[in-house]
Amino acid sequence: MPKNADLSRELIVQAKRTPQRQWLSEVSAVPLQQALRDLDQAWRAHQDSRAGKRQGAKVGAPRFKSRRDRTQSARFTANARWKITDQGKLSLPKIGEVKVKWSRSLPSSPSSVTVVKDAADRYFASFVVQTDDAPLPATENEVGIDLGLSHFAVLSDGTKVDNPRFLRRAERKLRKAQRALSRKSKGSNNRAKARLGVARAHARVADCRREFHHQLSTTIVRENQAVYVEDLCVKGLGRTKLAKSVHDAGWSAFVHMLEYKAARYGRAFARVDRFLASSQTCHVCWVVDGPKPLHVRQWACRACQTIHDRDVNASRIVLAAGRKLAPGREAES
Ligand SMILES: [Zn+2]
Repeated sequence: MPKNADLSRELIVQAKRTPQRQWLSEVSAVPLQQALRDLDQAWRAHQDSRAGKRQGAKVGAPRFKSRRDRTQSARFTANARWKITDQGKLSLPKIGEVKVKWSRSLPSSPSSVTVVKDAADRYFASFVVQTDDAPLPATENEVGIDLGLSHFAVLSDGTKVDNPRFLRRAERKLRKAQRALSRKSKGSNNRAKARLGVARAHARVADCRREFHHQLSTTIVRENQAVYVEDLCVKGLGRTKLAKSVHDAGWSAFVHMLEYKAARYGRAFARVDRFLASSQTCHVCWVVDGPKPLHVRQWACRACQTIHDRDVNASRIVLAAGRKLAPGREAES
């Protein structure tokens, strides 16, 4: 594997002297070096993954980036001499001062800033800051969560959370923009405009969804001492007929938020085995009642006769199974 210093000499210092790569000297050298660092890390991850020295999903080899990619980013570290001015502007090397619409105040002085341009031609500045999160006051509540298609989530206390209306409205606009794009002829100016329209609609849907996930995950973590979710194997579902709705629901992003927020605020979090058959098992007597097709929304347990709402029952099974996993707790069933 080539050394970072050698790559830097060849791909940055030498390249700047060629007419084809001269544009590299028009930008700060720090993001270029950061790109090499990212590349180095990506190769290491790929090699460790191939050698079996890395847990989790297989990591592929890094792919080429282009200055024409739809999404672009540049990271400025502390030694890049960037700063936030007294007027609240962002001053970047070789770019100058740019106006910032701050979405929140920074809790401490940032160590680096990444400027991202997304496919909808919007610019974002994202800062790395130190935070000291205090655990939330303890509570007795625990929750099991069933993520489903008929509702976004069903909680073991019986709460059913639908996809919010603003999200559905944004999705309708996205479909309209996509239809408009498909009618434009290739290579035309109108097509380029329509493409940006689709990108903007996509960005809006993604923003709405992220906002919804943030609000819901914060509420759940704040109100519960322990959070249990069925491990969905989203990758497996992604290859089936349910694929589109699965990606739309963005479950894995949501579960990830639950996980890191639980860690941040001192809450317990666990994924429960997806082979638990939560939709077939009675949460009262734990008799497995046999498979139920998706259209069966309600069923009566053949052993104890309890009538179950399919999704609420599933989330109670997740809760009970999570409690069994949790250390220092007696099994309750
Ligand atoms: Zn039963």
